[in-house]
Amino acid sequence: MNRLMDAARTFAVAAAVSAVASTALTASAHTSSVFYTGGGTGGGGTWPLYKDVRFLVRSGFPSHTPSYASIINKGFNQWSNETSGSGPDFYNDGGTTLTGNADNPCLSPYNGVYWRNLDYLGTGVLGFTPHCESSVSNDDTVNGFSMSIDTRTWYVDTGTPTSTQYDLYSVVTHEAGHATGWSGHFSSTETICDTDLPATMCPYYRVGNIRWRTLSTHDVHTFVGAY
Ligand SMILES: [Zn+2]
Ligand SMILES: [Zn+2]
Repeated sequence: MNRLMDAARTFAVAAAVSAVASTALTASAHTSSVFYTGGGTGGGGTWPLYKDVRFLVRSGFPSHTPSYASIINKGFNQWSNETSGSGPDFYNDGGTTLTGNADNPCLSPYNGVYWRNLDYLGTGVLGFTPHCESSVSNDDTVNGFSMSIDTRTWYVDTGTPTSTQYDLYSVVTHEAGHATGWSGHFSSTETICDTDLPATMCPYYRVGNIRWRTLSTHDVHTFVGAY
């Protein structure tokens, strides 16, 4: 049967915290196999190589200029543009179909991006991106995802948000990482997560921060290692 996995949730935290004493960065803490090797519950998989992955941004997003969809596309493109070239190539096909299952992409006929209240997942959840893997036993090939964006007031542009604004571009880039099959997050105790320049796949978004919009070297080597 299809397995739905990934605790890919992004939580808001108070405005940027100051650096704290941390454990030294260790290479083993963020190798590709930690995040992309399947097997058992919670493991991630990968899309077939050179896969074009179509998604729809569902209707329901507030009207805005620039549009939510245009910022969402930028987040996905961070991963599509990665130099390995063999990973998923995400593209928005422009559809806004109304059917689909935001909680279980295995039950959806397409990959959708949804606008909905995520309070049911916990206080402060900004985004949620579960993925679906092959129903073949021991096959961890990814074949679908759903992305949900919490219904809150976002900074929807490419400029500089204020220190109290949630940057949509940043959070979508993070969530799109989960759509590549990346399960879990870098440890919040790693040096790369406890500075004001956190890697995109760190677990907590810092309000007003735009570092996540593009991938850090640690996001890149982990992703490229998997693909
Ligand atoms: Zn996440
Ligand atoms: Zn690294």
